[in-house]
Amino acid sequence: MREDRIAGLKEAFLAAKKLSPTKLAARIQRIGFHCLKCGECCRGEDNSVVVFPLEIRRIQIATGLEWLDVVSPPNEGEWDKDGCFHTLEWRLKKEGGSCRFYQNGRCSVHRARPMLCSTYPFYLDRSELMCSECRGLGGRIESDEADRMAEQLIMRYLFEIQEAIALLERYRDFERGEAGKDGRYIVHDSEGEHRIVGGELLG
Ligand code: SF4
Repeated sequence: MREDRIAGLKEAFLAAKKLSPTKLAARIQRIGFHCLKCGECCRGEDNSVVVFPLEIRRIQIATGLEWLDVVSPPNEGEWDKDGCFHTLEWRLKKEGGSCRFYQNGRCSVHRARPMLCSTYPFYLDRSELMCSECRGLGGRIESDEADRMAEQLIMRYLFEIQEAIALLERYRDFERGEAGKDGRYIVHDSEGEHRIVGGELLG
């Protein structure tokens, strides 16, 4: 039930607000991390960066690119009865299997990069610290860097929960149907529905 999921997310938000950045930073220091600048998190099949509307706009401002030059809808979703493909999130666009912003061995939108990137390889799940695969784990991290990472992780987690609540509140269900062929998408996000027809964003 949508109401139950929203209530659960609101509880998670309150719990997340009580997280101690100091304790989290200490855990990050115990695990250890030093970015090797290998770019492995930006390249290859496993690279898949989920982004929210605010983050898309930040990259747009930094690059002057159109929305659909920054992101695309993922392949996971469902068809409606009119042959429109519905998805629930945006992902950074890829080129040649890598994030399109990974250029000449570096991130070309570093200052505007999404929170998922600036906190990689860490994330929070049910307020627990988790790690994605990364060769830099176990490396030496200075305490001020661990503090900064902990603060950003908590901010990211709170933001993700708020986005999920807004998505659920605005989500309108639809009648399922057969696969369509004319490239029509509806992306549901925290702002409601974005329609894409023939590669053009209609709103
Ligand atoms: S936005 Fe930058 S840091 Fe994030 S995956 Fe792309 S190139 Fe890597």
